[in-house]
Amino acid sequence: TSFNNYGLSDEIQKALKLLKYTALTEVQREVIPQALKKRDLVVRSQTGSGKTAAFGIPVCEMIEWEEKKPQALVLTPTRELAVQVREDLANIGRFKRINPVAVYGKEPFAKQKEELKQKTHIVVGTPGRVSDHIERGTLALDGIRYLIIDEADEMLNMGFIEEVEAIIKQLPADRVTMVFSATLPENVEKLCYKYMTDPVNIQI
Ligand code: AMP
Repeated sequence: TSFNNYGLSDEIQKALKLLKYTALTEVQREVIPQALKKRDLVVRSQTGSGKTAAFGIPVCEMIEWEEKKPQALVLTPTRELAVQVREDLANIGRFKRINPVAVYGKEPFAKQKEELKQKTHIVVGTPGRVSDHIERGTLALDGIRYLIIDEADEMLNMGFIEEVEAIIKQLPADRVTMVFSATLPENVEKLCYKYMTDPVNIQI
């Protein structure tokens, strides 16, 4: 299957060509059509499967460039993953001029606050720092239509699951939620079903 089949915009297709993503990975083949239909998703897949692009491609496709508020929030368990995901999204959204911003601990708050003041389409961050920005009023949530929880089982292992739930509760109810996890521990599964509508289960 090629990426051309999904009716992706020229800007996204051009970016994929530049990245040399010519064929889809399995997780992308399963996730992209469902995400474009705005279905909630629970996806069990490993790192290295191409999962970042699996959500990055449809989310970048659906972002409205003109909107002034962040439209997508990606939660990651670590700073390293936040930085990597931000970079992947910037590459996929390059020709749409999508601006993803990463927020994480151990970096000055003020710098991130300035970045968030620019037109920001996607925020990628660790739960602690994302919560800080919400509390201090530097991250607007009322435009969020897409929530992605990446490596949800790691969030649980690192003790972030309650913080994640506290963030979810503050998001607009009218949104698409996608959870990616290598394994699906009971607490993660519970969280998924509590905050999702009729999710599609995908196991790679
Ligand atoms: P991930 O599972 O998101 O960490 O991705 C693993 C690696 O696969 C990354 O280096 C991606 O750039 C690469 N990748 C993702 N999708 C594709 C694709 N369709 N074709 C070739 N490489 C890809």
